[in-house]
Amino acid sequence: MLTPSQIVEAGLGAALATGLGFGAYMYQAMWPPARLFGPAMRAPKRPGEIALTFDDGPNPRWTPELLDILGRHGVKATFFLVGRYAATQHPLVQRIHDEGHLIGNHTWNHPNLAFSGAEKTREELVRTNLELEQITGAPVRYFRPPFGARRPATLHISRELGMTPVLWNAITSDWTATDPAQLVPQFTRLMESHQRQGLATNLVLHDGGHLSLDVNRAASIAAAEQLIGQFRASHRFVRLDAWESN
Ligand SMILES: [Zn+2]
Repeated sequence: MLTPSQIVEAGLGAALATGLGFGAYMYQAMWPPARLFGPAMRAPKRPGEIALTFDDGPNPRWTPELLDILGRHGVKATFFLVGRYAATQHPLVQRIHDEGHLIGNHTWNHPNLAFSGAEKTREELVRTNLELEQITGAPVRYFRPPFGARRPATLHISRELGMTPVLWNAITSDWTATDPAQLVPQFTRLMESHQRQGLATNLVLHDGGHLSLDVNRAASIAAAEQLIGQFRASHRFVRLDAWESN
């Protein structure tokens, strides 16, 4: 892990390299709607569609429970997997794939790629793709940078490797929640707002934790089930590849 002063130092160095001030650099590196470092998929103009996306798995405690829920409701989702967890959970990764969900790359170690060099970024992405493709046999076409953090090389390298970089337009701090009631109303407001704007919703929840497998994601999983129940009559739940033509 980088210390805060190392992060500032790395950020300053990277900012100088792009000719941006530190504040402007951090905005471009961390804020999902920013586009100066290259475009990334967020949500197309397809109101009424929701892509449920789950980050930081596979997790042996929570991912199977989530898959059971999605299966019961016939909902397909997208899972951005951490390579080093996938390496120890082959049958679970295979299950995600076999049940019709889309698997994306969320790096091997979950570093902040806004502060990673091109070589390190490439290594994180390639190693994860090799692992995932070895398990499922399916090519990996989507990549979500950890923390949404990127620099121009991050998006460039992911596209070079045949992957569309993906951010989001609906997130709350679900990793700190203890009750789905802390999450569902915020997501509901976001979805209603996207609907009014004529946009789809690309929603992030976490079925794992990037620091450890030993996390509690009960609130996130329950929130997913409540959102499905709440929106299934009025919305369509899609995988991210349904939006590839946008
Ligand atoms: Zn993550």
